[in-house]
Amino acid sequence: MDCIFCKIVAGDIPSTKVYEDDTVLAFRDINPEAPTHVIVIPKEHISSANEICEANSAVVAHIFEVIPKIAAAEGLVDGYRIITNIGENGGQSVHHLHFHLLGGKKLTLKLA
Ligand code: AMP
Ligand code: ZN
Repeated sequence: MDCIFCKIVAGDIPSTKVYEDDTVLAFRDINPEAPTHVIVIPKEHISSANEICEANSAVVAHIFEVIPKIAAAEGLVDGYRIITNIGENGGQSVHHLHFHLLGGKKLTLKLA
């Protein structure tokens, strides 16, 4: 499958990993928009948050258990932001479910 995040999971494209277990991988965004910008993904290919269903939601729950551990390891004691973009109008450029973990500065609220 022609998916860059599946290729990162497979090790075919290099990444700077910050967390990995059997079902989840987290790595630094190649084009960071904050001092900390980590991408958290399920190893399984799910196209976006719009494809979350009963059959695959356990890994999403696990991602949200892992996120506080990554945030703590990154020293984000004053808070952070989790974003997932969905589809064309949502600004999604990589069609493999991912959560942006952004922190390290006071983020402004930009909705569009
Ligand atoms: P989105 O626009 O929400 O689909 O986010 C995709 C994110 O993936 C962007 O922030 C990109 O900078 C990031 N990205 C794309 N390719 C890579 C890569 N090879 N390694 C790390 N991050 C990447
Ligand atoms: Zn994929």
